[in-house]
Formats: sequence, C-alpha cells, structure tokens
Amino acid sequence: MKKKLVVATNNAHKLEEISAILGEKMELLSLKDIHCEADIPETADTLEGNARQKAMYIYENYGIDCFADDTGLEVEALNGAPGVFSARYAGEGHDSEANMQKLLHELKDKENRKAQFRTAICLILDGKEYLFEGIVKGKIIEEKKGCAGFGYDPIFVPEGYHSTFAELGNDIKNTISHRARAVEKLCQFLKG
Ligand code: IMP
Repeated sequence: MKKKLVVATNNAHKLEEISAILGEKMELLSLKDIHCEADIPETADTLEGNARQKAMYIYENYGIDCFADDTGLEVEALNGAPGVFSARYAGEGHDSEANMQKLLHELKDKENRKAQFRTAICLILDGKEYLFEGIVKGKIIEEKKGCAGFGYDPIFVPEGYHSTFAELGNDIKNTISHRARAVEKLCQFLKG
C-alpha cells in the first residue's frame, strides 16, 4: 500500500505539479480529501515558522504525514521586506495590485533593485520535521510588464532573463521558480 502524504494546500496547480513527480510512490491527499476546511493559522514571523505551523496543524489534528509551504518576496534595499508579509504588504484585504504599487513606491528612489523569491517547505514524516528551501534571485523593475502568473510576477525579472515572470509565462516560470526548486528538493528527498 502506498504511503499517504497530505499536501497542505487548496491550490490545485501545486498538487498537480507534485503528483506528477511523486504520484507513483505516494498517495497524495489535498486538504479537501481529508475534509479539512479550517482556516489554518499562519501567525509566525518567518517563512519557515509559517510552513511548520501549517504542517504541524495537519499532523496534530489528522495524524497523517504532510507538508506545507510558505513563500515571500525579499527585497535587498528594504532589508528583506515584504518577506513573510508579502501577501498583505499593502494591508489586510488588499490585492496584488496594491501590494505591487506599494513596493514600487518604496523603491522609487532606490538604485539597488535586487530581490529574491524564497519558498520554505516543512515536511513532517513519521513525526520528524524536515525543511527545504528554494530561491530564485532577480530584480524589481520600475513598472509592470506581462499578465501571466500572479502576485508580484509583473515586476520581477529573474536573473539571466530580460522579461518578468508575468511575461515568461508559467511553463518557463515553473522550471526556474523558487517553488519549483523547493519542491524538487522535497521530491528528491522523498524519492531517496
Ligand atoms: P504563498 O505562501 O505561496 O501563499 O505566497 C505568499 C505571497 O507571496 C503571495 O500572496 C504573493 O503575493 C507572493 N508570491 C508567492 N509566490 C509568488 C510567485 O510565484 N510570484 C509572485 N508572487 C508570489
């Protein structure tokens, strides 16, 4: 019988991406599959802390091995902000557009535009915790370009490219992104 692993996400795309790599080895379950409709707490002040909090919540309440992730955009000239607050940089209830406008405003007079997306994954396997990290370095440009993707994609140009994530589109983004790199490390670990 295949080992069960909960992916603590409601994002169907994430689940599909991971199933393609791990589906033969493990039975992957979504939050919906385990009938978890709770608003899982994410109140830590680091990406690792939030990933751990979400994974622990599932493990403690459902007793199944699982993993959770958390991502942030870290801007060098802003000492790593918005970081763990990326989703609500412009305030609770604001959307990606407001978050991007706030970031562009904060960087208005800054020459250093270096930034990175960072994903932390926490895996709980047989009660033990493991952390994985994925990073993509790049820069924040001065105005939005492209319409694919989500979040800060229209203003982020990854290193080695001249286009934003939103212009590159998901096929290219999914091979070089922070999330893809973290998931790849997790999958290598689980396969081994
Ligand atoms: P989450 O932890 O994956 O929910 O990401 C938190 C926030 O980081 C999102 O709400 C977005 O604002 C931002 N973010 C995460 N991943 C990406 C990405 O791949 N592109 C652009 N923004 C992202």
